[in-house]
Amino acid sequence: MRALIVSDVHSNLEAFQSVIDDARFRGGFDQIWMLGDLVGYGPDPDQCIDLIRRFDHLAVAGNHDLASIGRLGLDMFNSDAADANRWTSTRLLDEHRNYLDALALCEQADGFTLVHGSPRDPVWEYVVSADSAQATFEDISTNWCLVGHSHIPFVCRESVNGVRFTETMDGSVEELGSGKLIINPGGVGQPRDADPRAGYAVFDSASNTVTHHRVEYDIAATQEKMRRHDLPLFLVERLAHGR
Ligand code: ZN
Repeated sequence: MRALIVSDVHSNLEAFQSVIDDARFRGGFDQIWMLGDLVGYGPDPDQCIDLIRRFDHLAVAGNHDLASIGRLGLDMFNSDAADANRWTSTRLLDEHRNYLDALALCEQADGFTLVHGSPRDPVWEYVVSADSAQATFEDISTNWCLVGHSHIPFVCRESVNGVRFTETMDGSVEELGSGKLIINPGGVGQPRDADPRAGYAVFDSASNTVTHHRVEYDIAATQEKMRRHDLPLFLVERLAHGR
């Protein structure tokens, strides 16, 4: 069993398609696991939902998914994010609105818990350090937990010596073993670790590993569509910097 682990696609079709193509090239996958924020920020919300639905997949909802269908107030977001969510909500087809509305906040598969933020607050909490990871280790009933939301790829491991938090790079391979782990695959559609390439990870049950990958995509094409739709300039420009 191989799962393509993605998070924070954020309506970036070029990035999402590049991730899928790259994962296929690197041995393929049986299922996509999506950790939330499929929409928001970017120019192609309907197209990204269409794309994931072509695959066997398991997905949870993120804060932007819920805001774009009116289940979270836009006052919880900064003004650029709120503007983009308002725009997204005017675009979404009813069928896609229903798709997002039906997503659970937490799923489990093959020994993993899947959430957007954290198990205790799937919508908003950021796991970004050893300290913030502590509660997650206590909250999960599975050995391993997959989170998104921060758009920063990392692995966090619990051991007798404490909690070790490591940001990961392209090609990092994590042996799963028996200890507890939290893994963030990074952001597909809006990376924030100063590397503008789309981030994703692959779980391989045969080798019992999770491998992080980065892949280039046509950033200029996404930016051009965002400008055409008058999406906030800050959101357009940050794609080139990966911040
Ligand atoms: Zn996000």
